[in-house]
Amino acid sequence: MTGLPELALTFLGIATGGVIWLQSRGEPVWRWAAFGTLAWGLQVMAWLIERDLGWSAWFSPSDGLRVLGVLGWFLSLRKLHPKTRPILSLSLLPALAMAVLGLFTQPGQPLRQALALLDVLPLLLALPLLEATLRGRGSEARLVWAAGLLFKALGTFALFWMGWPPVLLVYFAWGLGYVLIAWGVSLELRDQAISKPLLGLIHVSLITSLVLLATGLHQTTDPSLGLMLGLWAYVVLLALAGLGLVVYKRIHKAERRLELWVGLLESLATKSQSTQSLALQGVMEHVLDGLKPLFDNLVGLEVRTDVAIRVGQNAPYTRVFELALETPAEGRLYFSGPPGDERGLEALAPLLTERLRLSLTLNEWRSKAYTDPLTGLLNRRGFERQMQRLIRLSQETRKPITLALLDLDHFKRVNDTFGHLVGDEVLKALAALLHKASRTDDLAVRLGGEEFCLALFGAGLEDAGRVLERVRSEVKALQITPISWKLSLSGGMAGGEIPTTMTTVQRWLEQADQALYDAKQGGRDRVYSAAPPILKPLK
Ligand code: GH3
Ligand code: MG
Ligand code: MG
Repeated sequence: MTGLPELALTFLGIATGGVIWLQSRGEPVWRWAAFGTLAWGLQVMAWLIERDLGWSAWFSPSDGLRVLGVLGWFLSLRKLHPKTRPILSLSLLPALAMAVLGLFTQPGQPLRQALALLDVLPLLLALPLLEATLRGRGSEARLVWAAGLLFKALGTFALFWMGWPPVLLVYFAWGLGYVLIAWGVSLELRDQAISKPLLGLIHVSLITSLVLLATGLHQTTDPSLGLMLGLWAYVVLLALAGLGLVVYKRIHKAERRLELWVGLLESLATKSQSTQSLALQGVMEHVLDGLKPLFDNLVGLEVRTDVAIRVGQNAPYTRVFELALETPAEGRLYFSGPPGDERGLEALAPLLTERLRLSLTLNEWRSKAYTDPLTGLLNRRGFERQMQRLIRLSQETRKPITLALLDLDHFKRVNDTFGHLVGDEVLKALAALLHKASRTDDLAVRLGGEEFCLALFGAGLEDAGRVLERVRSEVKALQITPISWKLSLSGGMAGGEIPTTMTTVQRWLEQADQALYDAKQGGRDRVYSAAPPILKPLK
């Protein structure tokens, strides 16, 4: 015998170890496996020499190298993630059990055979890793190097089983094992998926191994070798099924992702620009809902300008992106764990930024147009706009609305005595009171100057009267330095029904204005109701 196949295997083993070593720079945990594979490569050489010398010690250098190889792989596999409790991957166990059984039914040195068992150990350690892959979480490449380990082990068993000299199958299994290990580890370390040519190669190799085994069997008469063929066929089928499952999962996942991305892009581009969801909060909720299925661990979205608005939850992992407005503004994504898809996030950032910027600008424009800068209450335009909504709400819920016009008494005197700045303080204090008095659906409005309006939702004239009495007494309790006299306010109210249109509201405003005028005439510091037909003083 020439020893040529052994030389080739030694070379393959060393080359595979070298490939793993070179690629393991980013992932040092793989260095142990590189050493291990190197030892395995040398093992074949040592073993050939021992054979030629007729060495038959119970523990030879080649055995030592085999142990070192397993140890190396053990050290690497122990540290790899993600792991999942093996279920699907347990389907490998019958094959291994059968191989072991076959091993011990052959004559030979029991210790040698026990040492050959060590080849199973890396595979057992790899089961939780393979399980994660089969469930679509780990790197696909793991299936490739695990198949490599499997073929290496099967080659060893076949050798013990079929005896010396090794049949072609043994060399083939080992050779294939090394190629798959080198290829698989390189793919994993470069974070790549199984390519079509590799998939083809694996298929062809698996089938070839079956054919080789069948021809090997043809030349021998040992009936127990039928078991070997069955075992091998089982493993080949398992490997094909595993690959099929992973490829199917990959396609399925890709399709689902594509769907989600299209959905997200749609929601960023069109849907959320409908008038109902112009409000920043609404847009943000919409965007977060679209993002969540695409990004693991995403729990919240926040926009920070002078204030922070957040939808969802705060969490320890954040990704920040500048919104580049006139004022400093940023968006923040909150993740409960490390964000998975960094590339996706990067691709998304400009779109997300644009969408949030647009709605922030609109938001700002809207709040400028509809609120009064001094008091922060709605202005007349804001009132008209919000009133439309309130009329609809009133009609839907069959709840009345009461309108009240309020005017400070002798306000000119405050301005004339202490100046406009003090006057402004009074207006702000009154606005705060009105804001406090109004509930969620109520409107507090500064119609202009020192004239205010309250739209009380769900309140009839009587309920509204109570609210206004409270406001009136709170105004009297206001103490604003340096004003030495008691402030007071007069009011007129109207409505207390469900309005049909804005025209109804206009009419109520006129009636409330008349009631206010009457309250002033009646001595100020009072609220009159314009309930037709008679004017009714509240106190
Ligand atoms: P009355 O009891 O009849 O209401 O007497 P009044 O002095 O309050 O009279 P009126 O309601 O007509 O007064 C309006 C005054 O409100 C005129 C103006 O000086 C003052 N005013 C209007 N807008 C502002 C404002 O933005 N800031 C300040 N400080 N004063 C304002
Ligand atoms: Mg006044
Ligand atoms: Mg006035």
